[in-house]
Amino acid sequence: MTTEKALNESHSIDPGDPRVTPLELQIDRAKGLRIRWSDGVESSYPLNYLRKHCPCATCRSARQTPVSTALSPGISLPILPPGIERATQLSDASLVGRYAINIIWGDGHDTGIYDFRYLRQIAPTPDNGE
Ligand SMILES: [Zn+2]
Repeated sequence: MTTEKALNESHSIDPGDPRVTPLELQIDRAKGLRIRWSDGVESSYPLNYLRKHCPCATCRSARQTPVSTALSPGISLPILPPGIERATQLSDASLVGRYAINIIWGDGHDTGIYDFRYLRQIAPTPDNGE
């Protein structure tokens, strides 16, 4: 009776899924993040790409807000603040348990916790076509 419901939810990946379990994880200030997944796929994420996909609430809502949000009419603000260079620089990174990586950016932004399921979803590789 619950079978149908389970099928509908098969969208969310099981935590034990090799597709979302990193075998190897490397993060490099120049090359960005590279993950080799347990299913043999390798994904690499440039740092600016990761910053653009920062999953924290602040960045999510910033992405959803149109850039043209009028703060003061007549003054056009640049899309990215002057600190953007630092914003895409890696300051530090650490694992959060076994399910996520926390990236700390050069501008001090440290609330981005990239869980592996999310990383696999946004992986810029052609293999994850679902
Ligand atoms: Zn963020």
